[in-house]
Amino acid sequence: MINSVCQIVKFLPEKIQKYVSRNVWFISSPDDAWAFTFRGSDIANRHLIVISDELLKQNEQQIRYTILHEIGHVMLGHENSIGRVQTQAEIKRQEVAADAFAKKHLNF
Ligand SMILES: [Zn+2]
Repeated sequence: MINSVCQIVKFLPEKIQKYVSRNVWFISSPDDAWAFTFRGSDIANRHLIVISDELLKQNEQQIRYTILHEIGHVMLGHENSIGRVQTQAEIKRQEVAADAFAKKHLNF
């Protein structure tokens, strides 16, 4: 898992690399969901991106896209539904923005 993450992060712009390496923890999980992200205020001002074993069985492109999408949530300062109700519209807006971030950084 850590190899996949490093392969992706090392090609991101330096500013993002620095932020991610200082503020984001990646952990693996046997959960079914491919990946999800906790925001900084949930855990001591660090972000946590959980990468599932299931995701790592997908093809390289899918793994890269999903990890970039999750990094996008972090870099774009997105909220999550923990301790706060989000509207479907807000969730949708964040997902679209994280997808756009992933697409932007996919082709290095
Ligand atoms: Zn998302």
